[in-house]
Amino acid sequence: MTSSQGVHAIIPLSLLEAMRNLDTPIDDGLAELAHEMVSKRLGLSSTVATQIERYRSQAERQGSVSMDEAVSVFRLVSRREDAQLVFADAGRRTARLAARSAPTWVRTLLKAGPRVLRQRAGVRATARVAARVLDAEVTPQSGGLAEARLTESIASRASAAGAGCYYYGAAFAELLRLLSGFEGAMLHEHCRAKGDPDCTWRSTTVEGYE
Ligand SMILES: [Zn+2]
Repeated sequence: MTSSQGVHAIIPLSLLEAMRNLDTPIDDGLAELAHEMVSKRLGLSSTVATQIERYRSQAERQGSVSMDEAVSVFRLVSRREDAQLVFADAGRRTARLAARSAPTWVRTLLKAGPRVLRQRAGVRATARVAARVLDAEVTPQSGGLAEARLTESIASRASAAGAGCYYYGAAFAELLRLLSGFEGAMLHEHCRAKGDPDCTWRSTTVEGYE
């Protein structure tokens, strides 16, 4: 990944949408009071709303933003106290948006195909989507499992490895769930925030996953 390389608009879009979502108050009858309290929250600001619209139209055209811009959005989220929550929610949003670009036959297979085929094709589809959108390397493992690896990520560029890795972990797990029917967790085994050369994740099954 070079700094001149563009970043898929889905990524900053997901981050800002997750931020706005977490800053939106639950309607508990205290709406008026809440409105005053939350008007200072960044996620509800008109600047964020404008940026979300811009990223959404770029994402629909499969457009990209500059690396610097994506890094600054990552940095913005990383300064929040609830950064892990925002990153995890954003990762799932990215996966849902990105999975729509997977071929229709993969999604048909997922609904009706035999389990082994489904897992194999699903992990391969995940690998393609992860390479294209997240610039990550996903490698199939036996039993429909997968391993994901990132050397340089937007999180590490934003000095937000660690919390920012929740974004990637959530995105990998959700992509695998959507495209291969995986029902497990992604373990973040190695992390650049801990001094490891790469960030790696390994999928693990949970009880009930066939
Ligand atoms: Zn990491």
